[in-house]
Amino acid sequence: MTVSGLPPYDDTNIFARILRGEIPAKRVYEDEWALAFHDIAPQAPNHVLVIPKGKYCSFADFSAAASDAEIAGFIRAVGNVARELGLEEPGYRLLANMGNHGGQEVPHLHVHLFGGRFLGRMISAG
Ligand code: AMP
Repeated sequence: MTVSGLPPYDDTNIFARILRGEIPAKRVYEDEWALAFHDIAPQAPNHVLVIPKGKYCSFADFSAAASDAEIAGFIRAVGNVARELGLEEPGYRLLANMGNHGGQEVPHLHVHLFGGRFLGRMISAG
């Protein structure tokens, strides 16, 4: 197991394949540190996934093992995506699922960026 409690990074995961250009995605942003694309099953008018370019399974191993430059670059990229999508006003929500209880399905760190409508106070556990 990695530091994240997930299995070692799997190069065949779907987001790794999107990063390599093997699978199409509706890309909205890319820089040195991150790629952003529309979620295939959107749960809000804007639902974008932002992923780091490095091989990190989850927030757990990213926060523990990524370099300061990777972390700063990724966080800035998330902010850039939201800004470029025009979501800073009236606002948006960020969500990163981690591991089993977090409901993480794809084992490459991704931040969900939701916006385009009032999102309520919190997610449900359903
Ligand atoms: P999570 O449960 O946090 O791991 O979320 C994984 C997300 O990836 C879900 O919201 C899926 O709809 C989304 N997803 C899965 N496959 C693709 C794909 N090929 N392109 C875009 N989004 C995807």
